[in-house]
This record gives sequence, structure tokens and C-alpha cells, in this order.
Amino acid sequence: MSAVLALIASPLRLVIDVVLPPRCPGCGEIVDGDDRFCAACFTQLQALGPPQCACCGDPLPHEGDAAALCGACLADPPPFSRARAPLAYGGPARQLVLALKHGRRLHLARMMARAMLRVAGDIPADALIVPVPSHRWRLWRRGFNQAATIARQVARQSGRPLLVDALTRVKPTPSTKGLTRAARQRNVIGAFRVARPDAIKGRSVILIDDVMTTGATVSACAAQLRRAGARQVEVLTYARAMREGTGGA
Ligand SMILES: [Zn+2]
Ligand SMILES: [Zn+2]
Repeated sequence: MSAVLALIASPLRLVIDVVLPPRCPGCGEIVDGDDRFCAACFTQLQALGPPQCACCGDPLPHEGDAAALCGACLADPPPFSRARAPLAYGGPARQLVLALKHGRRLHLARMMARAMLRVAGDIPADALIVPVPSHRWRLWRRGFNQAATIARQVARQSGRPLLVDALTRVKPTPSTKGLTRAARQRNVIGAFRVARPDAIKGRSVILIDDVMTTGATVSACAAQLRRAGARQVEVLTYARAMREGTGGA
């Protein structure tokens, strides 16, 4: 069966490649395979990794204890146990996130999920994959929920179940431009509700979004999930906006 499919698939693949050649999601240049950046964009990506806070993933100044926490997490522990992202938000990573809103969604989401799983560590056996929900109004306008598209691919690649409707957004989040971190956090508290507490109770949750900015959104979601009885919540995003002074763009 697979041999037959391969015979059909390869000429078809050739036709697709001629009509719609794979393009770099960072700059639009034609590249020689799907799911990759061109060499120039690849060198501009800022990979995130140790030394970093064991909880929120913020860069730490010195290599040391893998369990070390940043000052913010020590002072005010977040409702999630871990947050990880493979890349800093900016440059080609930002272009990819924006491209997901417009086209070739499946292939971009597949590429994002693969990068995310490389930094996810061991995903608990009982984990559920849950996307940060879009507000219905935004869902209607954009036609789909980016986080759900990525979450579907994370579920497929990790072999863990997807629970797409675990959370709902109960009120639109007003613009947070220009607000302080604390004000943004106040802004999103109460914006989310757990729609499937029965399915969440006692389980680990991997919360998925495209970009983590201040962490206010994922914190609000994680707090609600914990309140509904989730055993623990880990956050996994494709990119992470770096705060000033932490070396990011
Ligand atoms: Zn490129
Ligand atoms: Zn931290």
C-alpha cells in the first residue's frame, strides 16, 4: 500500500513543487524542501536554551544549577510549572508566526510543532494538549485559531491527545499596548474559563500558543486549569518575546 502511495505521491509532489515551490517562511525565497528556513534566515534565528530559569525559561546570566529560578519566579511563582519556546520572537521567527495567519497553515504548523517538541523535554504520559483559545469574534474574523492549528500538530507528533475545547475565552481582552506587566495580568484575569473540567481533573496539561509575550495570557489560562484540578500545567510556545535586558530582540 505504502509503495503504491509512494509511486503516486512522487510525481504528484513534483507537480506541486513546480507549481508551488516550497518557500522560506522567513523571507519568501524558494528553498529546496518543505518545512525549512533558507540559510540566511536560519542564521538569524535566536535559539533559546540553557542557562535559563527552570520555571519560566527566561535566560539566566550564568550556567549553573538546572533547577535555578529567576528572580520573578522566586518572588511570585507562576501557575505553570514550566514554560519553553525554541526561539526568541523576532526576525524570521516572527515572519513565520505572521505567515501562519495567512497561508500554508498545515505545513507551517508542522514545522513549528517539530521545533517546539525539541525543547519540550519529556511530555508526561497523561498529558493533554490544550490550545489557548481565540475569542469567537477573532476566530470568525481570522477563520481559525492559530494556537489550535499548532496544538493539533503537537498532539500528532507527540502522540498525546488534543483537547481543543478545554478552555474558552469568556471576554475579549482589551488592547494591552502600553500597559505594565501587572496591568496586563489584571487585564486577562477572568478572560478564560475551563469548559471541560471533567476532562482536565487530575491530568497534566501542555498549554499551546504561538507566542508568549508577557506571560499574562498563559498564566491566566494555567491558573484556571489548576483551579479546575489539573495536576500540572506546562506551557509550550513557538516563540518568546524577550524582555529588555535579557538579550532578545
Ligand atoms: Zn529566508
Ligand atoms: Zn522564571
